Amino acid sequence: MEDIVKAEAIASKIAEAGGRAYYVGGCVRDKLLKRPCKDLDIEVYGIPAEKLEELLSSFGNVLTVGKSFGIFKLEHTSLDIALPRTEEKIGEGHRAFLTSADPFLSPETASSRRDFTVNALMEDVLSGEIHDYHHGLEDLEKGILRHVNDASFSEDPLRVLRAARFAAQLGFDVAEETRELCRKIDLSSLSRERVEGETEKALLSREPGRYFRELRQMEQLEEYYAELKEDPVFDERVLALRDEAKEPVEYMLDILCAGMTAKEKESFLRRFVTKKYELKELKYRTCEDITEKTALFTKLDQLTEPGDYLLVLRALYPQNEEKYIALGKDYQSFLQKEHISGEELIALGMKPGKELGELMKKIRKEEYTRSKEEILEELKK
Ligand code: ATP
Ligand code: MG
Repeated sequence: MEDIVKAEAIASKIAEAGGRAYYVGGCVRDKLLKRPCKDLDIEVYGIPAEKLEELLSSFGNVLTVGKSFGIFKLEHTSLDIALPRTEEKIGEGHRAFLTSADPFLSPETASSRRDFTVNALMEDVLSGEIHDYHHGLEDLEKGILRHVNDASFSEDPLRVLRAARFAAQLGFDVAEETRELCRKIDLSSLSRERVEGETEKALLSREPGRYFRELRQMEQLEEYYAELKEDPVFDERVLALRDEAKEPVEYMLDILCAGMTAKEKESFLRRFVTKKYELKELKYRTCEDITEKTALFTKLDQLTEPGDYLLVLRALYPQNEEKYIALGKDYQSFLQKEHISGEELIALGMKPGKELGELMKKIRKEEYTRSKEEILEELKK
């Protein structure tokens, strides 16, 4: 069953049991904006947690995310079903909240824990009626990210990054009063994973530059992105090449760091990148404009995604684009051609061991520009 159909069937059952189901959060916003959305978040009012779990189990395997929070996932669907809840700040940091689920909370109260008005819209699953307690429709129309709650917005520093990230994804502006609040929030308690998550989404968004521009406006670029001296610009060409990359986040990170020294790049990325291969390969991904074949191929040989690195070079050095396209084709055929093997060298009388390893490395470089036969001829001499 399609997820929407399933959601409607669930909502009918909930109604029969005296409750009400609403789509909440990003899926309402995205539907109104005609954007695709991955998850359907549903909030269920008027039914206690145990009863809801039981009711859901007739639709499939129910995974309990947090029993005390009243959050359920229906396995093999994109449906997240939750009870309304309130959050109370009980300590430092992004996760220091006491969450209590209460099926008899009013939708208005429950929606006020959300970050932005456009994220606080609710849609009745059965009737399609929109409930807009915080003027989210008006902000959606105007393209504005405005915080919902003056008193609690500052309690979670992740919201600062979320504001900038949604601005980049939706092409929205952040309301001046929300920016004002964001300026005073201390971001230091955020985990590397959280910052990475927001950065990734921003880099994959339609306007990645907007994320960093917005953070600068909020005076919040310093905490995690201090090395960015100027606002990064990603023009249409750069974004079109991003679509071709196998690892678009790494592609964007290289371009973001293009003006940095290797050392700067490393300390910059360490603050918010957790992926080990990216950090390990850092020293090779220095993005100089190298069109000399052997030097370039030596570099490409060190990388997990040499094709992506070529896209980075094309993006950074448009004047050499044709050269890089041709070199990329050359490198492809180099990879496909037959290479001289260790066995062949041993057959020529060489001893296995460290020296042979060194020779193999030398031979690989020779192979960038010369044929196998030519090299073997020379070795026999
Ligand atoms: P997307 O999934 O496309 O990134 P989304 O709006 O669905 O966007 P989620 O992180 O999936 O964002 O969260 C779902 C909803 O939960 C949000 O729309 C928002 O209403 C609320 N929410 C999520 N994180 C926070 C937060 N840190 N503070 C307040 N509300 C939040
Ligand atoms: Mg979501």
